[in-house]
Amino acid sequence: MEDRVKKTMESLLKNKISASYFENSNEAINHLLNEIENSATVGIGGSMTIMSLEIPQKLINRGNNVAFHWLENSAEKMDEARNLASKSDVYLTSTNALTEKGQLVNIDGVGNRVSAMIYGPKKVYIICGINKITSDFDSAVERIKSNTYKNARRLKLNTPCAINGKCIDCYSPERMCNVMTVIDKKPSKTQMEVIIINEELGY
Ligand code: SF4
Repeated sequence: MEDRVKKTMESLLKNKISASYFENSNEAINHLLNEIENSATVGIGGSMTIMSLEIPQKLINRGNNVAFHWLENSAEKMDEARNLASKSDVYLTSTNALTEKGQLVNIDGVGNRVSAMIYGPKKVYIICGINKITSDFDSAVERIKSNTYKNARRLKLNTPCAINGKCIDCYSPERMCNVMTVIDKKPSKTQMEVIIINEELGY
């Protein structure tokens, strides 16, 4: 394990957030599936990491009741899934950045993902590739802002970053960066575990 990963895990534990580390995604997925009961309702926040690991399908196939708006095909159903996810037993998401001080830094458009990370579901698992680790808060924000254009392009949004690949702190009607959250310490009503995987995952 790299020193910066070790430091990040020590910081998370100090912040009362559980942390686990896996050399590859298969080991991490096995851990996650063992942790989550088959009877649990599982909410999922928008995450390329979770999609790329095919976690939603694995949970659905073994019988978990999954609420994930990316699996829906209308605005109404997507909102319904966001609401259900916020009341689930377990919530899965990634993080836009994880600092070596053990802070989870996220920027969201709707806000459902960041709010469910803090309050609602009883247990939150944050699946995080080592590419998301940054030294501090400032570099976390820099990391997020320099990668947002990838999501904007994926979603075919008409934002300056989608066109130019750079953030200009826009006033676009389709702006993605409406809410920023920093989880400094474990939210008092929520169990939280960060699963770090020694791979590059997500943006
Ligand atoms: S503020 Fe606007 S330009 Fe900057 S990253 Fe967000 S959506 Fe893109």
